[in-house]
Amino acid sequence: VWQSVPLAPPDSIFKLTAAYKADTFEKKVNLGVGAYRDDNDKPWVLPVVKKATQILLNDESLDHEYLPITGLAEFTSAAAKLILGPDSPAIKEDRTVSVQTISGTGANHLGALFLSRFYHWNGSPKIYLSNPTWANHHAIFRNVGIEPVDYPYYDPKTIGLDFNGFIDALKNAVDRSVFLLHACAHNPTGVDPTQEQWKAIAEVIKAKGHYAFFDCAYQGFASGDLDRDAWAVRHFVEQGIPLLVCQSFAKNAGLYGERVGALHLVSVDQDTAKRVKSQMSVLQRSEISNPPAHGARLVSLILNDAGLFEEWKRDIRTMAERIKEMRRELRRLLAEELETPGNWDHIERQIGMFSFTGLNGEQCRLLTEEGHIYLTGNGRISMAGLNSRNVRYVAEQIDRVVRR
Ligand code: PMP
Repeated sequence: VWQSVPLAPPDSIFKLTAAYKADTFEKKVNLGVGAYRDDNDKPWVLPVVKKATQILLNDESLDHEYLPITGLAEFTSAAAKLILGPDSPAIKEDRTVSVQTISGTGANHLGALFLSRFYHWNGSPKIYLSNPTWANHHAIFRNVGIEPVDYPYYDPKTIGLDFNGFIDALKNAVDRSVFLLHACAHNPTGVDPTQEQWKAIAEVIKAKGHYAFFDCAYQGFASGDLDRDAWAVRHFVEQGIPLLVCQSFAKNAGLYGERVGALHLVSVDQDTAKRVKSQMSVLQRSEISNPPAHGARLVSLILNDAGLFEEWKRDIRTMAERIKEMRRELRRLLAEELETPGNWDHIERQIGMFSFTGLNGEQCRLLTEEGHIYLTGNGRISMAGLNSRNVRYVAEQIDRVVRR
């Protein structure tokens, strides 16, 4: 029966990783990875996660029963406080709906599914996505019958934000459109609006009655400060803009494979929240029945214990600082030591795991074929793939391909 099924192309990032693994060159570098690596190029289990794991192991009261459909309540309520802020009016007024999801991807899916069923679309269901965005966004929305539409975001001329293009798109979209916004550390560009720009974006969104679909995969990981990285979301809540937030603990807690995340929808009142939650439960039940327990228990322990929470903040700073250090060093090598043609300030100005280098497709191809440096053809590099031993080699290879 399946003979007519066409072969799907392999995922580009996984393809890159496979090519890197097969390469036997000693100085090869993988700048495609979407996961943190320490200075020895190894995955890092956060010390606070090790400690929390030990606590769980010693807890005789735990079992393997199912969690409730909407997840572990101690986890979802603490996670809501983490992103919206402990004093958020949305939490105080009990009008936030929080559901535990299969990490950030699952939150995006559940949010998209809920919108596809219940949003009052002004025309056919559409979501505005930044150009470019995390590639999975397109598939996630298409899967539930919502058509992705690009809005201008990245300006290759400045290797920065196309602020005017973004604002114009917000103004020109029909009222009550849905816009997906990266809360911080935009993937794949590393280019975020400033707080002043966020204020202007919020103003137009509010005036137009648009819906803000926030995706927050890097809280704390971006700047090293959990509150600073949540600033845009909290500002939108203060402005009374209707929104939801997809939250992931993959990066900031290093819990990639544990799939810990949540979807938080801020509604207008308690009664609406109750009805929304009931429908989300119905959707969740038919998709996953109930979310996995282990990772949520770990994060719940960390968020609800003042001591562990402080330790977590230290671990987050360790990761964010290492990434920033690599940004500084790569910029310094290119701009000051090698005097590579062009301006490299954007490397330090950008934030989070990824950086858009501004290298073109041909330069990326040469980096891989001649330098054994693996990166996506759009010039995106993962800062986590850099470390004190390979950053000079990477800078020298970039210098070489740029001078060609
Ligand atoms: N959104 C964005 C923008 C991301 O970069 C990621 C991770 N690559 C995710 C969502 C989801 O990741 P996860 O499902 O592992 O939490």
